[in-house]
Amino acid sequence: MMTTATDAGTIDATADQDPVALAADDITVHFGGLTALSGVSLEVRRGNIVGLVGPNGAGKSTLLAVLSGLLSPDAGKVLLRGDDVTDVSARHRATRGLARTFQQPELFMGLTVREHLVLAYRARVVPHRMWRDMLDPRALFRTSPGEVEKVDGLLELLHLTHVAKAPVAALPLGVIRLVEVGRALASQPRVLLLDEPLSGLDLHGSENLISVFREIVDRSDDGLALVIVEHDVAAVLALSDMVVVLDFGERIAVGTPDEVRSDAAVRAAYLGDVEPPQRTATGQTAAPAVPGSRPEVGGA
Ligand code: ADP
Ligand code: MG
Repeated sequence: MMTTATDAGTIDATADQDPVALAADDITVHFGGLTALSGVSLEVRRGNIVGLVGPNGAGKSTLLAVLSGLLSPDAGKVLLRGDDVTDVSARHRATRGLARTFQQPELFMGLTVREHLVLAYRARVVPHRMWRDMLDPRALFRTSPGEVEKVDGLLELLHLTHVAKAPVAALPLGVIRLVEVGRALASQPRVLLLDEPLSGLDLHGSENLISVFREIVDRSDDGLALVIVEHDVAAVLALSDMVVVLDFGERIAVGTPDEVRSDAAVRAAYLGDVEPPQRTATGQTAAPAVPGSRPEVGGA
């Protein structure tokens, strides 16, 4: 296959040496008098799944909007593979390897799973072709061998091969979410932002999606990283390599799932523990006074 400089997705190989795929540095966002985010930082390493959790109104969606470029912060920086992209539009961040899915899937209900992935793949290879394909349905059936191989690979990765020919309208929500993820992956991102991908799913659907997410990351050749905003704390703790906890616009904890699970500030935010968290000199939260009978965060 030929690689050309005109390929919008071509990415400088030297940037791949940077272990940090995406970073937010000291982000502050105000909405009028309300501080939605206050000096929040976050680091997403290559090949990692980072979970972003916090009670309603904590600032999760706001942070995701800042990361993806839909919202410009009042202070702070966003770094994409080492480059300052704070003033770069969402569209241009996408060409530099950042993709996202939305809480409400935006799919064409009459198209099949395969057709969605073909369209998404073509949008990357020939950006303006998507509209031609949409206006001329016959174009959808003219496929090249490279495209077939690529789309087949995506279908297999997402365990969607058996529903490839089904119109998405006929599919359960969990499968539709996977199609959304597939569309985002067709652009070959280095970082994929997922806004509440598990919402509305039953336990089986959630577990299936979680295992596919892990597989996507583990099978990625170029260190794909995921950032998952999720209400379901137990799911995030089970899935993530690193977890960031927001509360009232502040980052109250960051660490591995085990570290976050035993964090007093997190327990206070979620469970209303009476004992206030003790801050140490390093800004870490001290271990709770009474270990042992500790309830699982979000485990109820
Ligand atoms: P989360 O996603 O964690 O539930 P959000 O990021 O949506 O939280 O919201 C954080 C805070 O900012 C909330 O108090 C919310 O009401 C407020 N907020 C979010 N978006 C806007 C907006 N566009 N205008 C005004 N206030 C907003
Ligand atoms: Mg939200």
